[in-house]
Amino acid sequence: MHATSITQFDASEAGVVPGCERVRDNVWALPLSMPGGHIPYSILYLMRDSRGGVHVVDPGWDSDDNWQTLVETLQAIGAAVADVQSITVTHLHPDHIGMAERLRGASGAPVQLHALEQRAINGGVNRAWSTAAPEAVLSSWGVPDDRQPEILRMADRLPPQIPLTADRLLVDDQKLDIPGFDITVMRTPGHTPGHSCLRDDANRLLYTGDHVLPTMHGGLGLGGPTETNPIADYLASLELVSRYDDYEVLPGHGYRFVGVRERAGQSEEHHLNRSREVAAVIAEGGEPTIWEIASRLTWTAGWGQLNGFFLYSALAQTAMHREFVEAG
Ligand SMILES: [Zn+2]
Repeated sequence: MHATSITQFDASEAGVVPGCERVRDNVWALPLSMPGGHIPYSILYLMRDSRGGVHVVDPGWDSDDNWQTLVETLQAIGAAVADVQSITVTHLHPDHIGMAERLRGASGAPVQLHALEQRAINGGVNRAWSTAAPEAVLSSWGVPDDRQPEILRMADRLPPQIPLTADRLLVDDQKLDIPGFDITVMRTPGHTPGHSCLRDDANRLLYTGDHVLPTMHGGLGLGGPTETNPIADYLASLELVSRYDDYEVLPGHGYRFVGVRERAGQSEEHHLNRSREVAAVIAEGGEPTIWEIASRLTWTAGWGQLNGFFLYSALAQTAMHREFVEAG
């Protein structure tokens, strides 16, 4: 894979937010800052249709600064907020969906996302907590009594899902109504259940949200309970986008690039390595609990250093991989 924007690549490496950039004649990439310091920005995309209307993909983290940047960027391309005709969201996370409500209110444009993503928003986002009482989940994972309080406290502090109700629910392979463009919705579950990429065949562009990213491998199962295993779903979704290897990828973070098949392969390896590690611990026998399995895996920060949210996240990941391994 190789970066197709030096500006975005350099900014990504430096951890700063690059400026707006034209990707095609009528397509722009607008990086918008996000809080937390871990990931500097998410990328909003603008398309101008053949009638002068503007279409937004992933309206970024909601803040007054980002809103101001969006308004000024629209002016810079000769448009205004009132010209926005549609707002499409790849998935439910606040760095992608954040300003959807504000932009809808100011422009009157409809918000659209996949029907399964709307279901996930309505159902609450925490995979484990949503299915049973938190205490019961932790006990079933074999979490020692003295470690449960810190995880339960963390659960109370998780930010609530942004309660958005879309005006249009998208389905697999649907064409978006953007005059002069030919955009197809590709549902790519894994990161969240209704995560969708957008494919622009005329411009050979692939909007990948958090499904395939150039600098990190997005987490899986981050959109509430699912009937199917997020790892299995994710691997199938990687296969789907890999067919468009000559398309330029417009990701939700980082920089645009070409080489989606190679990058998808790296993401697949990243997650399969963790599954193999879990399988190896299970193969040693003794029917270990999730807590016992997790304690024998390698963690970047070190198992003993994990606490609160990170401990919860490590256990939830381990549970998802065990389920994937046991399903064969
Ligand atoms: Zn995300």
